[in-house]
Amino acid sequence: MNGHASAPASRHGRDRRAHVVHGPQGAPRVSGTAPRVAVIGGGIAGLAAATALAERGVHVTVYEREHQLGGRLRGWPEELADGSTITMSRGFHAFFRQYYNLRGLLRRTDPALRTLRGLPDYPLRHSGGLQDGFARVPRTPPWSALGFAALSPTFGVGAT
Ligand SMILES: Cc1cc2nc3c(=O)[nH]c(=O)nc-3n(C[C@H](O)[C@H](O)[C@H](O)COP(=O)(O)OP(=O)(O)OC[C@H]3O[C@@H](n4cnc5c(N)ncnc54)[C@H](O)[C@@H]3O)c2cc1C
Repeated sequence: MNGHASAPASRHGRDRRAHVVHGPQGAPRVSGTAPRVAVIGGGIAGLAAATALAERGVHVTVYEREHQLGGRLRGWPEELADGSTITMSRGFHAFFRQYYNLRGLLRRTDPALRTLRGLPDYPLRHSGGLQDGFARVPRTPPWSALGFAALSPTFGVGAT
């Protein structure tokens, strides 16, 4: 990778030590006749690729075999027996604040990230009743991993 790990972060969320690692920049816009590109799959990877290409002037067509975009992130309406409608999905998804690239992608259409809902914790509940969480864990490595191990009732030094 042609990155610059020492460059100051232009946006680092809550982690003051985070650095933005730039990939190869390439041309900001295509010159001449715009190429046509087909992106196969409308999951987050395909949509990110399509967005980056379209922003550089490429004519992009996204081909998705399902009825909704999103891939494993997608939700779709289902009608229950009582006639009410719910949104079904493949499973609970958490987008952590350290997902800088994902948040940058979402900011294209949602600058304030209003569609993300902040949660006080990300609890992991085990069938035996034990529960892990991240709310009290330090935010930066290596203290985050050490703190999780120390505080976890199931994985760490506090396990019984
Ligand atoms: C239950 C569950 C929970 C998860 N929780 C989290 C989480 O909390 N946090 C997190 O960061 N990640 C989580 N993940 C992982 C995350 O969902 C995936 O890493 C991510 O969605 C993958 O995106 P993708 O674009 O690479 O692939 P996909 O989402 O699989 O997208 C691929 C797309 O390509 C389409 N496609 C495939 N073949 C063709 C074809 N021939 N023609 C047209 N279209 C085609 C598919 O229909 C699909 O829409 C979770 C995954 C699951 C299943």
